[in-house]
Amino acid sequence: MKKVMPPYRIKVVEPIKWNTREERERLIEQADFCTGFLKAEHIPINLETDSGTSAMSQDQWAGMMQGDESYFCGKNWYHLEKAVQDFTGYQYVLAAHQGRAAENIVCSCLINEPGGYSPANAHFGTTEVHARRLGIEPINLYPDEALDTQINRPFKGNIDLDKLEDMIKRRGAKNIPFLNMVLTNNFTGGQPVSMSNLKAASEIARKKGIPVVIDSARVAENAYFIKHREPGYENKSIREICREIYSYGDIMHMSSKKGALVNMGGLIATNDKALYERMGAMLIQFEGYITYGGLSGRDLEALAIGLNEGLEYDYLHHRISQVKLFGDFLKEKGVPFYEPAGGHGIYVDGLMTYPHIPKEELAAQAVCIQAYIESGVMGIENPSSLGWSRTDPETGKLASPPFELIRYAIPRRVYTDSQLEYAADGIKDAMDLGEKVKGFRIKWVPENEFLRIFQYRLERLT
Ligand SMILES: *Cc1c(COP(=O)(O)O)cnc(C)c1O
Repeated sequence: MKKVMPPYRIKVVEPIKWNTREERERLIEQADFCTGFLKAEHIPINLETDSGTSAMSQDQWAGMMQGDESYFCGKNWYHLEKAVQDFTGYQYVLAAHQGRAAENIVCSCLINEPGGYSPANAHFGTTEVHARRLGIEPINLYPDEALDTQINRPFKGNIDLDKLEDMIKRRGAKNIPFLNMVLTNNFTGGQPVSMSNLKAASEIARKKGIPVVIDSARVAENAYFIKHREPGYENKSIREICREIYSYGDIMHMSSKKGALVNMGGLIATNDKALYERMGAMLIQFEGYITYGGLSGRDLEALAIGLNEGLEYDYLHHRISQVKLFGDFLKEKGVPFYEPAGGHGIYVDGLMTYPHIPKEELAAQAVCIQAYIESGVMGIENPSSLGWSRTDPETGKLASPPFELIRYAIPRRVYTDSQLEYAADGIKDAMDLGEKVKGFRIKWVPENEFLRIFQYRLERLT
């Protein structure tokens, strides 16, 4: 295979402080085996998230110097507004300090009363929480193929259309404030949604008057997969594909900390003027004036530039190829992961890696912690029973998610192939220890179930 070369050179470097196996063993134990309590300086290869971890370009840094910090209507706002209009085809644009702030506003303005349901291909964690806070039950409608980590299909991020139709019939359209489509789907291994699936889901929802929300954190990566995997899109540009995606939605929100290549920022856009006005009024309460939404002028400029860079084909081609390469390194070594490689990371299958550790003893977390101890690479359990178990409203019992995965998310433009090869070796070393590695018992989790994702205290079983 021909190697895909990065379309950039490295101009500024951030030194990594390496630590020893003994130090890591002590540090992670001191943190009660919780990744969220470990100091970042102690993680040499940090693959916990692709959120806010991108390297900015020289143009973005130069743009930061052009920040107009006037309170109202600074020039950077207009650069951002235009960048968003061009890429989405939506006329009305708002900024927010990050994705969940944008979601808060979108969900609060679309959900008028409690008691309903929101269907999705699979809600992102923060969307799930906003829905619940507003009295709505989030329902994930993944197709059966998405539940099998080992089958290789092109669009495992899709929503199951039959389940969607059935759900609307059973629950009633008036009890469904929106359909939530997440591109790509973080919950199922960072897999893409096909254009035909999005279009069909959108038709089903809109026919019943249900608005379609497009959760867009990694939409450019999704567009890249459509171009390469869906017949009829080979010759379309990433921008053309994004425009078509948004033609099937009524509103988009975005954590710009992912595909828009900035360290902080969020966006909302729509063509619905009345909705935009309602959201604008709320934005002023929670984020700031409608021409900055919680961001400084320099951040708006970096975001405008980063959004455009994130849509460039050469950048995306290298990005997706690098994630796949990391998957290839793991595959060569026999480490099982959610197939095929996702857009923003590789999700190692905890139960297959450590078949001797059951779900209740937190197999995914055991792999995650052991790989850190062996090599200094850190991922995050996502989704797994540790962070993602929830009380089932019907049975009242704690139900675990359908997967036991460790997500190794690749920050954009940050790590070299050789660092990723080293990380794959570390995961393989952890796997090879086999039954020497024991599972965990939960000592403490916060009462708020959502916070389990980042805060818990564990004890190693003996
Ligand atoms: C990260 C993310 C969010 C939340 O955004 P934050 O910037 O972390 O607040 C929402 N949806 C998706 C799909 C995301 O990846």
